[in-house]
Amino acid sequence: MTTISANLQAVKNRIRVVTQSSGRSDGAVRLLAVSKSWPAASVRAAFSVGQRAFGENYVQEGVAKITALDDLDLEWHFIGPLQSNKTREVAEHFDWVHSIDRLKIAERLSAQRPAGLPSLQICIQVNISGEASKSGVAPAETAVLARAVKTLPRLRLRGLMAIPEVSDDDDQLRRRFAMLRELLAQLNAEGMQLDVLSMGMSDDFEIAIAEGATMLRIGTAIFGQRTNKGSL
Ligand SMILES: *Cc1c(COP(=O)(O)O)cnc(C)c1O
Repeated sequence: MTTISANLQAVKNRIRVVTQSSGRSDGAVRLLAVSKSWPAASVRAAFSVGQRAFGENYVQEGVAKITALDDLDLEWHFIGPLQSNKTREVAEHFDWVHSIDRLKIAERLSAQRPAGLPSLQICIQVNISGEASKSGVAPAETAVLARAVKTLPRLRLRGLMAIPEVSDDDDQLRRRFAMLRELLAQLNAEGMQLDVLSMGMSDDFEIAIAEGATMLRIGTAIFGQRTNKGSL
């Protein structure tokens, strides 16, 4: 428990240092704690030292945790691959979805978002590394998808998300993140008013901040190395 608190403090300090050295304003970068594979107790520990936004990759695991932590005022972000048969649970339980790369999934989420809840906040996932195996829409197809998502009534398009391929080459990562930032700028040039660049994980978040990230998704640096996959 105290480890999570110390890790969170260390991550926040690193975020503050790079935010300032990049000439960005304090508070320009939000931290999402990626709690996948960690139990509800770990989320509670992070919440007790001020962390409110959490990210989950697996629908069943995420919904179980959301239900178990119903007594806390938390913000839940779905960041993993999403299949059609799981959209209803996501629409009913999560506040954000970062991993939209097909219109069909967005249409289902919009149709299934309960009337009593605020709009579901959406990021489109872009495959910035061009890896065939990775999820995400191709950069050249991003604008078409964004325009379509923007018309859906129960969704609010906020920005773009990406997971670059693992690399030791900082310059390459920098170029990947810069590409996402430029894609967002192009959409905003059409008048879209998008304010979220969801990029940066435990191993590359400092580069992501320098390249304009507004939302970091950090798991390992906060909770530790994941040994198991998808338990409550
Ligand atoms: C697991 C995961 C993260 C967090 O990764 P860490 O390296 O543990 O910080 C961020 N984003 C997505 C989409 C993930 O699946």
